[in-house]
Amino acid sequence: MDPIERKHALTHTIDGNMLIGQARRKTTGNAWRAMNPATGEYLEPAYGSSAPAHVDQACSLAAQAFDGFRSMEDHERAAFLERIADNILELGPALIERAVLETGLPVARLEGERGRTVGQLRLFAQVLRDGSYIGARLDPALPERSPRRPDLRLRRIGVGPVAVFGASNFPLAFSVAGGDTAAALAAGCPVVVKAHPGHPGTSELVGQAVQAAVAACGLHEGVFSLLHGEGHEVGAALVGHPAIKAVGFTGSRAGGLALMNIAARRPEPVPVYAEMSSINPVFLLQNALENSAETIGAAFADSLTLGAGQFCTNPGLVLAIRGAGADRFIAAAAAALEAKPASTMLTAGIHAAYQQGVDRLMQAGGVKLAARGSRGEAVCAGQAALFVTDADAFLADRALEAENFGASSLVVLCTDAAQMRDVAQHLEGQLTATLFLEEQDRAVATQLLPTLERKAGRILANGFPTGVEVAHAMVHGGPFPATGDGRSTSVGTAAIERFLRPVCYQDIPAWLLPASLQDANPSGIMRLREGQIEQR
Ligand code: NAP
Repeated sequence: MDPIERKHALTHTIDGNMLIGQARRKTTGNAWRAMNPATGEYLEPAYGSSAPAHVDQACSLAAQAFDGFRSMEDHERAAFLERIADNILELGPALIERAVLETGLPVARLEGERGRTVGQLRLFAQVLRDGSYIGARLDPALPERSPRRPDLRLRRIGVGPVAVFGASNFPLAFSVAGGDTAAALAAGCPVVVKAHPGHPGTSELVGQAVQAAVAACGLHEGVFSLLHGEGHEVGAALVGHPAIKAVGFTGSRAGGLALMNIAARRPEPVPVYAEMSSINPVFLLQNALENSAETIGAAFADSLTLGAGQFCTNPGLVLAIRGAGADRFIAAAAAALEAKPASTMLTAGIHAAYQQGVDRLMQAGGVKLAARGSRGEAVCAGQAALFVTDADAFLADRALEAENFGASSLVVLCTDAAQMRDVAQHLEGQLTATLFLEEQDRAVATQLLPTLERKAGRILANGFPTGVEVAHAMVHGGPFPATGDGRSTSVGTAAIERFLRPVCYQDIPAWLLPASLQDANPSGIMRLREGQIEQR
């Protein structure tokens, strides 16, 4: 290791600190601690909150860092993302152990999530090396034309500093160095993270991994900061800060809407990419149901209970046409669910909200309980639940459509395919819509598809939506209230686009043009010239 490397070697401790640029600072004010949701024990150390002055410092540093960071060569920013990935791995078992204590998630799930986190950072590094994310377009001047067409060249640049809210349900992949952070950094945007109060120690460790990567790559310290707070003040101040130009959020509908309101009321409003609530309808078409009711029922119970149902893509609604096939599906799903052990939920708040949601469905008119999973010993044990209603009752009561975050789902029995379409039309925006179908279901599926395209960000067949692949063609988004802006995705490489904006250079002399727009195309990136793809 050379002396510079050694100076920036990763030292990781959990001290209750926030990270402002390269500084590690004690949080102040009322002390609070993360809780182990399996045992109810409070975990050391105590955290306080980042004061308004700290929010201001982090955002001001981010603004100072922006021009230098976005102007770096793409391969240098790619190396930075890869360094973050390496540093996260270097945290080793300490990271997984802390995350287990703070979230109750099992080791294997967290190790898988770490792989996903590291994988998405590395995938964005590839996107940067490829360079086509810049979206370069060249329309050279037409001096002979009357009126003369000017020389026009377009590229996309980062929007500016981005505020990211860590999500409770993915303490690694949607948190401090998760999808939004990776996409924003790839786009050349400095990031200020508000850690989720459910896993502050995990956040502090990952934050140090990013902080060390900033130093090791010789970047301006304002490229990354990490704030803490329990209560809404820190998040509200962050979104309201004039240096912040976009926000990434995953959490409750109430929280997302509150942040969208703050952002819209700013003197300079900014976009909030809030992922909020989705019940991910699953349509069981008749032929698939009749031929595979038992298999689908058992697989549905597996998907519903995965991770205590704490996935935004959890199948919270199932639609089927009343009849023997639907009865067999419900019986199979109920039997599988009853055998499922309860799993620890992420936080006391999420557990309490889930219990209230189950109680509401227990008391709702026209809704029957079909099955419960087994009870658990953990303080925040989430006991699975399956309910059944009919389409008339569902269409009459909007409350039945509310997301109940956890392993709870509602089967809606329809009289026929037309009523199934009515229910699809009635639904709010969703992250996903699933069809179980066979070739003989073609007519019904073809009629449903246009509605599902309007309602969901991802439509899938003969599988369950809980797995969200990190890939170029993935969409993890959807119309409101699935997200606050359905034109974008938070998973996959297309997520970079939410943090980019186009700039057109008109008649700018060659010596002033960025390399990506120069005639010689020195970086060899894919471009459109006169509307045609230019050979590299
Ligand atoms: P949350 O309560 O919305 O909190 C998420 C983050 O936003 C936290 O950092 C929170 O910090 C902050 N926040 C919330 N409301 C705010 C406000 N009004 N102003 C400023 N900051 C605010 O979400 P959660 O704690 O993860 O879980 C609560 C519920 O969210 C769950 O029961 C579930 O219904 C839903 N959820 C949905 C998804 C999904 O993917 N659809 C994922 C996770 C959770 P402070 O509390 O410190 O302000």
